[in-house]
Amino acid sequence: VVQRDPPYLQGLNKEQREAVEATDGPVLVLAGAGTGKTRVLTTRLAHILSSRKAWPSQLLCVTFTNKAAREMKERIGALIGGVVEGMQWLGTFHSIGARMLRHHAELVGRKSNFTIIDTDDQLRLMKQLLEAENIDEKRWPARTLASMIDGWKNRGLKPADVPDGEAHGFANGKGKKLYHLYQERLKALNACDFGDLLLDVLSILREHPDVLADYRERFRYILVDEYQDTNTVQYLWLKLLAGGGTGARGNVCVVGDDDQSIYGWRGAEVENILRFERDFPGAKVIRLERNYRSTPAILAAASGLIAANKGRLGKTLWTEGDTGEKLQVKGVWDAEEEARNVASEIENLRRKGHPYSQMAILVRASFQMREFEDRFVSLGLPYKVIGGPRFYERAEIRDAMAYLRLVAQGDDDLAFERIVNKPKRGIGDASVQVLHQFARMRQMPLLAAAREIVETDELPPKAKKALTELTQSFYRWTEVSRQIPHTELAEMILDESGYTDMLKADKSAEAPGRLDNLKELVRSMDGFESLAAFLEHIALVMDVEQNDSEDRINLMTLHAAKGLEFDTVFLPGWEEGLFPSQRTMDENGLAGLEEERRLAYVGITRAKKRAFLSFAANRRVHGSWQSALPSRFISELPEEHVETAVDEGFYGGNAGFRDNLSGFASTYDSPGWKRAQANKAQGYTRAKPPLIEAQAWSVSTSDPTASLYQRGDRVFHQKFGYGRVKAVEGNKLTVDFDKAGEKKVIDQFVSRG
Ligand code: ATP
Ligand code: MG
Repeated sequence: VVQRDPPYLQGLNKEQREAVEATDGPVLVLAGAGTGKTRVLTTRLAHILSSRKAWPSQLLCVTFTNKAAREMKERIGALIGGVVEGMQWLGTFHSIGARMLRHHAELVGRKSNFTIIDTDDQLRLMKQLLEAENIDEKRWPARTLASMIDGWKNRGLKPADVPDGEAHGFANGKGKKLYHLYQERLKALNACDFGDLLLDVLSILREHPDVLADYRERFRYILVDEYQDTNTVQYLWLKLLAGGGTGARGNVCVVGDDDQSIYGWRGAEVENILRFERDFPGAKVIRLERNYRSTPAILAAASGLIAANKGRLGKTLWTEGDTGEKLQVKGVWDAEEEARNVASEIENLRRKGHPYSQMAILVRASFQMREFEDRFVSLGLPYKVIGGPRFYERAEIRDAMAYLRLVAQGDDDLAFERIVNKPKRGIGDASVQVLHQFARMRQMPLLAAAREIVETDELPPKAKKALTELTQSFYRWTEVSRQIPHTELAEMILDESGYTDMLKADKSAEAPGRLDNLKELVRSMDGFESLAAFLEHIALVMDVEQNDSEDRINLMTLHAAKGLEFDTVFLPGWEEGLFPSQRTMDENGLAGLEEERRLAYVGITRAKKRAFLSFAANRRVHGSWQSALPSRFISELPEEHVETAVDEGFYGGNAGFRDNLSGFASTYDSPGWKRAQANKAQGYTRAKPPLIEAQAWSVSTSDPTASLYQRGDRVFHQKFGYGRVKAVEGNKLTVDFDKAGEKKVIDQFVSRG
């Protein structure tokens, strides 16, 4: 009997099909951009499900972004219909990690409703630790500590595992201790950071054989996209779950491209590709060579560029069809002109019938986006920002989220600190410090401590009143959160807290946009069944916009563009220092440069039909003007596939200069350069964000509830002076002060007078 191929297999080439059908045993698909790696993974899932080798809940599939996971789910649904709903383990390493950790939080000393903190909170915590340890933050910045700790976590190292030598680099050998203290602090807050989502799961799998055995039993097939960007801890997960040992099934399929490894700076180890064959014996290695995405011109340009890299595994790529349009490279005067050019090119294309959604602008650094956003807004062109936590990183969104987090988890101190005086309600830093001190003595969360301290006179009347109202509000919100939809709750909180009014009263140009953002936030909550589910999503979310129904231009960083494709791709800002990024080159030398080049390769290979590159002669980077040279990557593109044009504006409007110049390197003589120098000379400083003062994490050893004083004792209080104790109630004293009159104070805040 000849069996017809199921439709989902039709159209695959021989190698792709082999990768789909080799379901059992380890498989490594190593192939260049646009060769169908993601398509292979998707089809493989469909194949496993439709041949009933596993239930949806028995598949573990890792994608690089949450958006990619959603799309994969949709694709599988389209291929084989209904069953995809049960695929609970399809997501990023982080979202899968969070899910596992909630099941087993108690094994690593947490409660299952732990909060996932973002980098902002992470830095704040570290600053507090540094201060408590009397470490000069100017010499040893919290940011440095944060990246050290992230680095250790990415490598699967707990504080005790960090080699002593490595910790010496920070604050005279205190790095390891600080890592330990930071972890303790997170545990006390019932919180974890992104690195913990990976590291804690690894610890659980390593230290709890029963849990490991359960997961080995459950996950019949494991699939990983963008494998070249896995880090060590993720690799170790895979090895434990699938790589030999009792009960491990060994059915693991990873797909990747060493030329697209662009997250080395975040701990990704491209060597994981080489390790795979060693650690998963008998692994089948499949190479795909036909590119289905791009025109020959685009593919040739990208291949020519990446050939300049030394550290490559090397591969062949070919594609069919007409050569296609050459890459357009354009020099312009500055970023404003660059944005104008791109926008008018977009309008051209649109007039010819190309949809906006098939156009993307890929920037090296997110600050480059603003210029494009401004331009689009003024022309009324619809656009969306993809990937990167930009939307949720905005201050007003973070504030709103802090309120919601605190309602969901009353002991989220970081959230409390963020909003206690936002909007301003007269609770100054000094009051917050008193509250901090009290909370620490009593070892309770700030919100609970606030409820107690407002029963005394320790805070100035205004602060006391404001804090009383705030704690009462939180009490009420927490109560109603169980009764009303979470979108209504969010609106209620924004109104009742005074946050909306604050923005309405704000006459600055940004305020209306901020209000819109908050509305958008409430709208986005609609898609989640509960506040908890929403908060979980936010903590993990990497990609922002989900409303794909409207036809819009895509704006994103090159890093966020991984795996995506568009008919037309704009690649602005190809200038030395910006791209390749000076910082990356300074920090990582040649390896850094090669990673930048891979990023350029990723950028060009996103294009199906056309790519526009541009570079500006002058650029304002973080507020100061810099003159720039075209990126070396431009000169590395094979000439026959590139068409270069330099705009009049490139020379500051003085076309005569062009005749005197040979090559872009002479830009330094142009009037534009001189103007940039003048601008630079004006100088620019950035305001430092205010920080809530931190104090040592000293914990009093005495029983915190027993009062040290009794009626009739003479006492001294920092603020109210001398007085006599009139009444004692727990650790609260009513004192008749000589000058200030009768006040209620906390006993730990007085001394014998
Ligand atoms: P990247 O390295 O950029 O992630 P990739 O290798 O994952 O790329 P896919 O995104 O899976 O490549 O595929 C690139 C494009 O080629 C997609 O539009 C996909 O639908 C198409 N494609 C892949 N295989 C085939 C095929 N056999 N026939 C027709 N089109 C294909
Ligand atoms: Mg892909």
